[in-house]
Amino acid sequence: MYRLPPLGYNYDAFGTYISKHIMELHYTKHHQTYVDKLNTALEKAPDLQGKPLPTILADINNVPEDIRTAVRNHGGGHYNHTLFWLFMSPSGGGEPSGELLDALKEKYGSFQDFIDEFETKALGLFGSGWVWLQPDLSIVTTPNQDSPLMVGADEPLLGLDVWEHAYYLDYTYKRGDYIKAWWHVVDWDFVGERFKKTDDSQLSL
Ligand code: MN
Repeated sequence: MYRLPPLGYNYDAFGTYISKHIMELHYTKHHQTYVDKLNTALEKAPDLQGKPLPTILADINNVPEDIRTAVRNHGGGHYNHTLFWLFMSPSGGGEPSGELLDALKEKYGSFQDFIDEFETKALGLFGSGWVWLQPDLSIVTTPNQDSPLMVGADEPLLGLDVWEHAYYLDYTYKRGDYIKAWWHVVDWDFVGERFKKTDDSQLSL
């Protein structure tokens, strides 16, 4: 049985960047629903129940067909949101440091150029989905609750939820304002640690 992971902060931890209202609904309603529906789907596949979720998602095409869509949507949703809470911190914001900052500068020219590219991808994503920074420092998007794992990519270093449920109560249709606010809560220490160890052991659901 999967369970909602504990949040490392209170619902009001992000002030006006992400409101208490959104945090509470996002965590207790949206994420909880992914967990519940994933558990329901896996009732029909006992042999999958003991496997780590990243392993199941990376092999999504071999999940039994009658539950594949449910595992894709709700397993992906559980995995993505578990990471999303970890990507943020009340003491977040600013810039990364050390190896990650150096590598981003090398790939994008400057940290601001990386930010600009990430925002362009986030704004250009049609409908609901996610924007990811991958261990090779590429920026990719996935639709719905898909994970980069489902297309054979590595576990992401960082990701942004651009579903309307993540921002509409605070920012209405202004996705760009939400993205700009989100940078103020990104936990670059956590992301930098992930960059140092990009193996499959980094996530324990
Ligand atoms: Mn969400």
